[in-house]
Amino acid sequence: MKKEIRLKIRQSFVRALKEGYPLIAKEAIENSEDINEEGVIINLYDEKNKFIAKGYYGRQNKGYGWVLSRNENEMINDLFFEQKIKTAIKQRKEFFSNKQTTAFRVFNGEGDGIGGLTIDYFDGYYVISWYSAGIYSFKEQVVSALQKVISVKGIYQKKRFDEQGKYIEEDDFVCGEQPKFPLIVKENGVNFAVYLNEGAMVGVFLDQREVRKLIRDHYARGRNVLNTFSYTGAFSVFAALGNAVKTTSVDLASRSLSKTREQFHINDIDIETQDIIVEDVFKYFKYAIRKELRFDMVILDPPSFARSKKFTFSAQKDYKNLLKEAIAITEKEGIIVASTNCSTFNMEKFKGFIDVAFKEMHQQYELLEEFSLPEDFKTNKSFKEGDYLKVIFIKKRDF
Ligand code: SAH
Repeated sequence: MKKEIRLKIRQSFVRALKEGYPLIAKEAIENSEDINEEGVIINLYDEKNKFIAKGYYGRQNKGYGWVLSRNENEMINDLFFEQKIKTAIKQRKEFFSNKQTTAFRVFNGEGDGIGGLTIDYFDGYYVISWYSAGIYSFKEQVVSALQKVISVKGIYQKKRFDEQGKYIEEDDFVCGEQPKFPLIVKENGVNFAVYLNEGAMVGVFLDQREVRKLIRDHYARGRNVLNTFSYTGAFSVFAALGNAVKTTSVDLASRSLSKTREQFHINDIDIETQDIIVEDVFKYFKYAIRKELRFDMVILDPPSFARSKKFTFSAQKDYKNLLKEAIAITEKEGIIVASTNCSTFNMEKFKGFIDVAFKEMHQQYELLEEFSLPEDFKTNKSFKEGDYLKVIFIKKRDF
C-alpha cells in the first residue's frame, strides 16, 4: 500500500482544483514541508478541512503533482490504473483497427486522467514515458495494468524526470519481446523506421500526423519544399510522396543525415532527388539569401528551446525572427507552415508573432489552416497548457 498524507490547499487555488484543474502547483500547498517521498498519495483539503481531491506527489518543472480523483473513497490501486488504461484504449478503438496507421498515442497524461504519464503504440509495442520519480513509483501497477487490458508484444520506457524533464540514459526495454530495429510502422500508409531503444526520441513525433497528411494530400504537389529542423525528415517524406518537385531537409544533428536517408529509402523515394543538409538552420537561411534560393513551401518546426554553439533559440523570444527569415526566402504565393510545441504561449499569441513578422517584412499574408493536437492526444478541458501544439499554414500574398 502507498503511504498517504494530508495537504492543506491555499484558498485561492481551491476553486480551480474543485472544478477540474489537474495540476497541483507548488504554491497551492500550505504545508509542503510535510511531503517527504515521491509517489506518496496526497489528499487535498481546503482551509475548513473539506476534502477537495486526491492525487500523487511527483515533481516536474510544471508542478508538485497531479490530481487523480475527486472521490474521497476512491482507492489508487491496481483497479484504478486498469480502469484508466482500459478507458483510454476503448476511446482509441478506431486507431487500433486502422491498418494504414500503426503508431499513435494510447494514453495522454492528464487528458486521460493521470498527469505525468504517456503511453504510445508502435505496431504492438508500447512506449511508456514517466515524467517524474513519483509516477515512476507506480511502474509495476501501470505495466501490469497495460498487460492485463490488452495484448502487448513488448514494452519500452523513457524516464524523463531528471531536472527539466531531461531524458535519463538507461536501458529502455522493460518486458516482452524485442523487435528487430528499425521497427517499421505506418502512418496513413507511409512507412516510418522507429527505434524504441535509442534514447528520448524514437524517430517520429506522432502529434503531427494530420499536418503531414495535409501536406502530402493538398500542399506538396509541384512545390519546392524547405523543411527546417527536419530531424528524421518526416515532413520531407510526406512532401515527396505528395509529388513535391524537390525537398531540402536541414537539421543541425549529424544523425539526421542517415536517419532521413533511411526514411526516404523505406518509402522507395529516390534519395538523389532530395537534399539533406546537416547545418544550423540560421546559417542555412543566410546561405539561401546569398545564393538567392527561393522555396514554394517552408516548414518551420523548431524545438521550444535549443542551445547551439553560438546562441540559444527560444520559441517565445525568437519565433518572430525565425518567421522573418522564412518569409525572405518564400516565393510569392508560397506557403509557410509555422509549427510550435511551446506551451508558454497560446494560438492567439502565436498568430500575433506571425502578424508582426509579416508587417516588419512589409508583406501581406493569409492564414489558411490551423491545427492543434490530434484526437489521440486527448487533452483536459481545464488544463489549456496541455494543448501545446500549434500549427498554422500561411500563404505569402502577391502584393
Ligand atoms: N520537425 C521534426 C521534429 C523537430 S525536432 C519532425 O517533424 O520530425 C527538433 C530538431 O531541431 C532536432 O532534430 C534538432 O537537432 C534540431 N535543431 C535544434 N536546433 C537547431 C538549429 N539551430 N539548426 C538546425 N536544427 C536544429
